[in-house]
Amino acid sequence: MTARVRSDLSEARRIVVKVGSSSISGDATWRIDMLVDAIVTARARGQEIILVSSGAIATALSLLDVGSGRPDDLATQQAAAAVGQNVLLWRWQSSLDRHSVLAGQVLLTLSDLQHMTPRINARRAMDRMLTLGVLPIVNENDTVATHEIRFGDNDRLSALVAHLMKADALVLLSDITALYTAPPDRPGSRPIDTIGPEDDLRAYEFGDKVVNSVGTGGAATKAMAARLAQDHGIGALVTSADNVSEALAGANIGTWFAPTPTAEPATGTLPVIRDVDTQETR
Ligand code: GLU
Repeated sequence: MTARVRSDLSEARRIVVKVGSSSISGDATWRIDMLVDAIVTARARGQEIILVSSGAIATALSLLDVGSGRPDDLATQQAAAAVGQNVLLWRWQSSLDRHSVLAGQVLLTLSDLQHMTPRINARRAMDRMLTLGVLPIVNENDTVATHEIRFGDNDRLSALVAHLMKADALVLLSDITALYTAPPDRPGSRPIDTIGPEDDLRAYEFGDKVVNSVGTGGAATKAMAARLAQDHGIGALVTSADNVSEALAGANIGTWFAPTPTAEPATGTLPVIRDVDTQETR
């Protein structure tokens, strides 16, 4: 059932859950167990979950001798992703082992989603994983991606996966509990409860696209991804990873992007992306 309002999330049949690098790497790896427990609880309710996990590059940083910050050269990013993705999936699988659940690794490039054959293959494989009781864990295939052909950030990737898989909702988890009307430390800034499909995002001052020490994305990329989902009839919730159980249970938390009621059903091709660049979201 498509989630029209936040409380529908507990009954949404298929949910894409995206978690950001800083929530699960470095000192925060303990959250993997918390996220897995919440996902397993949702699955026990009969919900299908597809996880989009960032954190490959961030995970590699403490393992490789390449400095502490996110590397800025492409070759080191690609190498770090190759090492980190392996360890990241091992961490997810080790946690899932506590519940006897298997993970399936899905690495996608933008080009994969732009072309019909790999699109169909990715969808078919993930559909099959779900019927087999496997948890698909998606990330960008960073080892072959270059700046020009990247999704940009995993927020956008997760919205495109939600569209591809005809999900009933998208949940974007990071270290912010909600989107704010302006930078949260600004006097007068307040959390946004709901953003309707017709609401002009220019009314808000979201933080610019950022690349922090471990991942990419900020409030603006979350707003853009949530708007992309919303435009295609998929409701999206933006909240913190610590709220994952409440989010999947439909609690009144975070910022809800209500889906466009008239959106056409998801099709076989990459969706037309409304111009929601930072010009609109600033
Ligand atoms: N795909 C990147 C990684 O796993 C993260 C991208 C992002 O932060 O959005 O390291």
